[in-house]
Amino acid sequence: MHYQGHIIRPPSEANSIILQVTTGCSHNRCTFCGAYQGQRFQIKDSAIIEEDLDFAALHCTAQSTVFLADGDALVIPQKRLVTLCKQIRKRLPFVRRIHLYANCRDILARTETELAELKEAGLGRIYMGLESGHDKTLAAICKGATAAEMITAGQRVKKARIFLSITCLLGIAGIRYSLQHAVDTAEVLNQIGPNQIAILTLMLLDNTALGQAAAAGRFTMPDKLGLFQELRTLVAAIDVKKSQLQANHASNYFSLDGRLPRDKEIFLATIDQAIAGALDLKPETLRGL
Ligand code: SF4
Repeated sequence: MHYQGHIIRPPSEANSIILQVTTGCSHNRCTFCGAYQGQRFQIKDSAIIEEDLDFAALHCTAQSTVFLADGDALVIPQKRLVTLCKQIRKRLPFVRRIHLYANCRDILARTETELAELKEAGLGRIYMGLESGHDKTLAAICKGATAAEMITAGQRVKKARIFLSITCLLGIAGIRYSLQHAVDTAEVLNQIGPNQIAILTLMLLDNTALGQAAAAGRFTMPDKLGLFQELRTLVAAIDVKKSQLQANHASNYFSLDGRLPRDKEIFLATIDQAIAGALDLKPETLRGL
């Protein structure tokens, strides 16, 4: 496969064929994200993608999903993306679903009909980075969307019957807005009702604007206890009909993995144990992105 730069995928795509159809991220401005720094965004040449499909047709026959890398493959123009999805289904008949990352702007650029067309062509899952439902925080981190826009985008994906996974980021609002961030994020999730909620914990990176702001004393992340209280406020305020909740990313101090609303009391009891200091936490050295 012709991979360029860092290949980043959600944990749940560990068994997917990773087909890199773009490099980098077309937005590449979020202040906390160092994933694609220095990498020029481009949609890869069709001939290269063809070669990777040839490789996958020969060597990846046991895998039933394709993840389209990198950071926001939904930025590919509609006609080209529909053609690509159909081509994947034709060339890799053992593949049942195609998944990708998308930012809010890419989703809002499409109508519900266009999303439904992609679903028909094989697009089965969209991962959207919400990070926060708190508008001041979204503006501060240059996410490029407001909470209202996130809600519209998420609801549009749901209406197209595409599985929607949404990422939230503990700590991203700093200590100042920590609990408001939790409440507002839950409200956005409640308005959307995503199929999956993934909770990660901010890790400050030296090569990012936010990491540098923290080093200069202009941003202060909540400490562990503050993060656990933020998590508790978030989980307590989520009121969805049926969503998976996963906080089992490498960046988290402990794991939650289950369903809402079914497991809510178990989640809250686990978080309370962490707040009380009665839970084994992941050592700092084992946390990662
Ligand atoms: S967080 Fe996502 S949208 Fe923001 S710069 Fe990183 S990859 Fe791009």
